[in-house]
Amino acid sequence: MAAGSYDCDVVVIGGGIVGLSTAYAIGRAAPGTRVTVLEKEQGTARHQTGRNSGVIHSGIYYRPGSLKARYAVAGAAEMVKFCAEYDIPHAVTGKLIVATEREELPRLHALVQRGRENGLSVRELCGAQIAEYEPEVQGLAAIHVGTTGICDYGAVARRLAEASGADVRHGAEVVRIDRRPDRGVAVLTAAGDIVRARTLVNCAGLHCDRIALLTGDEPGARIVPFRGEYYELARPELVRGLVYPVPDPAFPFLGVHLTRGTDDGVHVGPNAVPALAREGYDWRTVRPRELGATLAWPGSWQLARRHWRYGAGELHRSLSKPAFARAVRRLLPAVRDEDLVPTAAGVRAQAVLRDGTLVDDFLIREAPRAVHVLNAPSPAATASLPIGREIARRTLAGLAESER
Ligand SMILES: Cc1cc2nc3c(=O)[nH]c(=O)nc-3n(C[C@H](O)[C@H](O)[C@H](O)COP(=O)(O)OP(=O)(O)OC[C@H]3O[C@@H](n4cnc5c(N)ncnc54)[C@H](O)[C@@H]3O)c2cc1C
Repeated sequence: MAAGSYDCDVVVIGGGIVGLSTAYAIGRAAPGTRVTVLEKEQGTARHQTGRNSGVIHSGIYYRPGSLKARYAVAGAAEMVKFCAEYDIPHAVTGKLIVATEREELPRLHALVQRGRENGLSVRELCGAQIAEYEPEVQGLAAIHVGTTGICDYGAVARRLAEASGADVRHGAEVVRIDRRPDRGVAVLTAAGDIVRARTLVNCAGLHCDRIALLTGDEPGARIVPFRGEYYELARPELVRGLVYPVPDPAFPFLGVHLTRGTDDGVHVGPNAVPALAREGYDWRTVRPRELGATLAWPGSWQLARRHWRYGAGELHRSLSKPAFARAVRRLLPAVRDEDLVPTAAGVRAQAVLRDGTLVDDFLIREAPRAVHVLNAPSPAATASLPIGREIARRTLAGLAESER
């Protein structure tokens, strides 16, 4: 394809926080690069980016040396600066991780160790000291991490879109991709528009595996959507800041937590239940084709076989508010069932390997004239600025290579 027949240099599929931070980073690293972002929804942050806990994670949970650890620690500090610079609601609140059972104590101590290995300052508390931070919270022991914060990721994404200088198109769902290694990519939208680019970046979140397959690349994993349901606390005065349980190391999910957000409301959640559609924000939303594809993936069955007991507990708490409230009372005994008011849910794009392994770290794969982001779970919003830079670096390097 002749140089003049490209509509842009890079087409980014997906206008969530990862796609937009990639567009922003390309604009900074290589000014003059023409970037088009195609987003299927009519606005920014309609999926994971706008439906999360809004926490700027410190990086305490992640294996030292993992992409998650590296990018969360750097990303948290950068996110606070970005929010301050662009006047986006945010606060550095710190958070408590609380052990309520004796068997959690070794895991709590392991987290202290991990936090220190990741360069964080962590304060250990006995049960009585918890009240210094959270008078209504009870536990056997806790740790306090000072660098955790909160922000409005939807607002961050909108600001990234403006500051990127990219051509961001809404209502542009990618339905077909034609890639010729010697001639770039042509992308067709549901509205019939064609965008020709030298290379593509796949940041399609809940649909990233399908976009990889449309490009002709086997992702080696499939997205299994896990819904996270939230309640709003009707008596927000019970919680001052952020309170988390000790996470189960078998899962990349952090457990139901209490988060005072930038709107000053307190959110309780999210749990983790299988969603019956990629964008299945409640039990009524079922997409038989998407559900069929999830069930056809051998990894889904392996996962169910391995973790059915945990899954059954999560399902029970999803279907029964008293059961959910009982779980919350382990941390916050004063909560009554009627204090929990249902609010909007989110769905996590969790990559699962063929053998049922939940992909824990960020997963970015390069292919000719394509970079695919195949797993960008929490804390990808926190880490979005360094992740965007890394994706931009790989995109520009791949482009230089393929046009050599
Ligand atoms: C319940 C929950 C709680 C979380 N809490 C936190 C937290 O507190 N802190 C934190 O750091 N992270 C958190 N996360 C994780 C964080 O929200 C995500 O990691 C991050 O938002 C991922 O961004 P993304 O851009 O990859 O995905 P998305 O925001 O989902 O964006 C992908 C975009 O691609 C678009 N798209 C898909 N297919 C197509 C197509 N064919 N054509 C065009 N566009 C397409 C979608 O419409 C979507 O807008 C949480 C996530 C969930 C679900």
